[in-house]
Amino acid sequence: MKDIPSKKVTVTSPLLPPLEEFIPYLEQIWQSKWITNNGRFHRELEEALCDYLGVKYISLFTNGTLPLITALQALRIQGEVITTPYSFVATTHSIWWNGIRPVFVDVDPRTGNLDPDRIEAAITPQTTAIMPVHVYGTPCEVERIEAIARKYGLKVIYDAAHAFAVKQNGRSILEAGDISTLSFHATKTYNTIEGGALICHSEEMKKRIDYLKNFGFAGETEVIAPGINSKMDEVRAAYGLLALKHVDRAIAARRAVTEHYREALSGVPGLRMFEPLEGVEYNYSYFPIFVDQECYGESRDELYFRLKEEGILGRRYFYPLISEFDTYKGLPSASPENLPVATRMARQVICLPLHHELEKEEVERIIEIIKNR
Ligand SMILES: *Cc1c(COP(=O)(O)O)cnc(C)c1O
Repeated sequence: MKDIPSKKVTVTSPLLPPLEEFIPYLEQIWQSKWITNNGRFHRELEEALCDYLGVKYISLFTNGTLPLITALQALRIQGEVITTPYSFVATTHSIWWNGIRPVFVDVDPRTGNLDPDRIEAAITPQTTAIMPVHVYGTPCEVERIEAIARKYGLKVIYDAAHAFAVKQNGRSILEAGDISTLSFHATKTYNTIEGGALICHSEEMKKRIDYLKNFGFAGETEVIAPGINSKMDEVRAAYGLLALKHVDRAIAARRAVTEHYREALSGVPGLRMFEPLEGVEYNYSYFPIFVDQECYGESRDELYFRLKEEGILGRRYFYPLISEFDTYKGLPSASPENLPVATRMARQVICLPLHHELEKEEVERIIEIIKNR
């Protein structure tokens, strides 16, 4: 008889700072009675994140979707935006919410990121921007994308929701493009429960972003644009400051799990993993494996449900593709023939449990189940 474990192993677990360390922050907020609208902790967190991430201009948001929507507004993007179908729906939704037409381009099988070789063919006179995603925290080919953008006069907005603290050749990946955005949702490597941020490269743009996230107010009586309300409150900003003190430890724990998986699963026939890129400091936010049914002897879904029966909850990120959802599937660029690599990856992928509290025994059990098909 097998022991059926009662404890579920989830794909992620929020990095919750110790409660007793949070109480003093709350006391200060209660005493000051300043609970939102660019308070002390809000300003401190923006500064601390600039320091930690190695960027110059950051604006906090109430989640990771509104900075994408606001970035498109701030850069006055219209017409068509080239983007990836292999992401979380929020990427394309942000384009749609601005009345812009998304144009899907296929991805690179080595990274899951927008394939620079395919971008130019998708550019039309209506194209105004490219919105790539550093999916799973793997950097896009930012220099090649930059060259294309410059050649055609396009803006580049990176959805960097997975790329908190990722560096390439010693520099923050968030420096790439005109704007990058982060998500601090509970499921991400670093969280403020709900939250997000926008990174830009000039004081002038930061000012514009800060107006836009506060209804467009540029003073008591002046509204400069139809802005939105996307301010982060003091309680979550304080939580974020505290969580920042614990994030290095969390990333180190994620790294150990990642290395364990990589070593144990690298020889398994029919399972593919991404090769780490040269010169990249990763944040170990996801561990995707790709199941080739012929060679592995089981389909992705068979393995996914077999793990689930054992209480191990992987996630099929990103299945279905964004281009397969009802809103988008009628677009010409959404056809599977246009997206063969992304389509295959979406059918083969499982993201294995990966977080800072995952125990070695749990990782070993997951590996056993995957190996013993
Ligand atoms: C999580 C995520 C978002 C949205 O972030 P929220 O904070 O949940 O609004 C956007 N893009 C990608 C790729 C994400 O994974």
